[in-house]
Amino acid sequence: MAKAQTPHVAILPSPGMGHLIPLVEFAKRLVHQHNINVTFVIPTDGSPSKAQKSTLDSLPSSIDFVFLPPVNLTDLPGDSKIETVISLTVSRSLPYLRDAFKSLVAKTNLVGLVVDLFGTDAFDVANEFGLSPYIFFPSTVTVLSLFLYLLELDHLVSCDYRDMSEPVRIPGCIAVHGKELPDPIQDRQNDSYKWMLHHAKRYRLAQGIMVNSFMDLEGGPIKALQEIKPPIYPVGPLVNADSSRELDGSGCMKWLDVQEIGSVLYVSFGSGGTISMNQLNELAMGLEMSGQRFLWVIRSPNDSVAHATFFSNESQNDPFEFLPKGFIERTKDRGLLVPSWAPQAQVLSHGSTGGFLTHCGWNSTLESVVNGVPLIVWPLYAEQKMNALMLTEDAKVALRPKPNENGLICRDEIAKVVKGLMEGEEGKSVRTRMKELKEAAAKVLSENGSSTKALSHVANKFINQALQASRN
Ligand code: UDP
Repeated sequence: MAKAQTPHVAILPSPGMGHLIPLVEFAKRLVHQHNINVTFVIPTDGSPSKAQKSTLDSLPSSIDFVFLPPVNLTDLPGDSKIETVISLTVSRSLPYLRDAFKSLVAKTNLVGLVVDLFGTDAFDVANEFGLSPYIFFPSTVTVLSLFLYLLELDHLVSCDYRDMSEPVRIPGCIAVHGKELPDPIQDRQNDSYKWMLHHAKRYRLAQGIMVNSFMDLEGGPIKALQEIKPPIYPVGPLVNADSSRELDGSGCMKWLDVQEIGSVLYVSFGSGGTISMNQLNELAMGLEMSGQRFLWVIRSPNDSVAHATFFSNESQNDPFEFLPKGFIERTKDRGLLVPSWAPQAQVLSHGSTGGFLTHCGWNSTLESVVNGVPLIVWPLYAEQKMNALMLTEDAKVALRPKPNENGLICRDEIAKVVKGLMEGEEGKSVRTRMKELKEAAAKVLSENGSSTKALSHVANKFINQALQASRN
């Protein structure tokens, strides 16, 4: 069988939907705008999740995918952090990756490998096959800057970062207190920190790093990284633009259809974020006190097991059971509660949605940016505290409620911030700034926009490499 001439790129997403979603958007652009074929090569430690399967099954035919055989992680301690689990899943998959590359090389013009933030170990196998290694960084340029600065920081600072008296000054970024740095680097004795250092070192081996952001959103850090190697390519915002209404089992869209323009606050903590029972109670009371309309994707609190004596097993799975007494009845005319999952991309693009209370996951944030929806930031884990800081202090598109001395965000504070965003003066300025960013986002993604050009630059490298390979 003759080998195909079309350039072919393998993409290796590390486990997790938050990583897969932007990579799929990136792959679609390689295919549709540059006629490059793509195969997702997916490491796993078990069977793929439903969400993963349905995302991959809906890909266009020019994008293929293959699950590598699952790796065995049973030797890991039960309290291993997610970064350790993900990194080991990738490193233990390398023999399978080698097999996958062998079969791809036999039938395609395979020229490049793109990994995300935890996939750098795959570069060694890419080199064996002469593939150009790239990173697609699915978070902010600010967090990427931290990664690229981490070895220096590790060298300079001897205490835990959260105990530093001075803020950390990452080149080009807003100053950040050590305690707001991402979770995996907080405990320097933990394996997850060692993995972060390991990857940070290996970022230098990439031929380029694409990042899901753009100049108007993160000009400072982008400029600061312009001089370094490898080159950085801001290609964002690449977001899930799924707009089919078929998945709207909970009736969100119908409900939004009959609300006033810009009147609804959408409340969601991403694909898995949860808050404590106390906090859930305060959030409910705060939303009620704000007098605003809201659409809340609600999950059972994360300490509900500790309160199991108060609830039957059954009710633990029903998040509505944890709401304050009478809340549903009192707010039924202006609030819609959705258990666990909403069609977020559609909700954010609906004209009735006027604000988003978010955990600051980067996909959620960018989905809000492309729709011009201003934010209330409520970071929970991973790099979300850094995102929250950047969005409030640097990009100025968000308001942030303050926790009390025990870390609880109280109902009065929530009501004040929600009202402030939806109808106050402070809301006006973040709304205006978010509208500007929405326009800027559309511009960078237009035919001659900076993100389109940055992606073309990388695509052309793949195309040229494929041309050369077919001549040899
Ligand atoms: N999402 C959704 N419905 C939900 C919650 C999340 O469609 O109820 C989608 C959301 O649109 C986004 C992704 O799941 O594309 C969440 O990614 P993000 O990076 O914001 O946060 P993570 O879930 O990875 O913490």
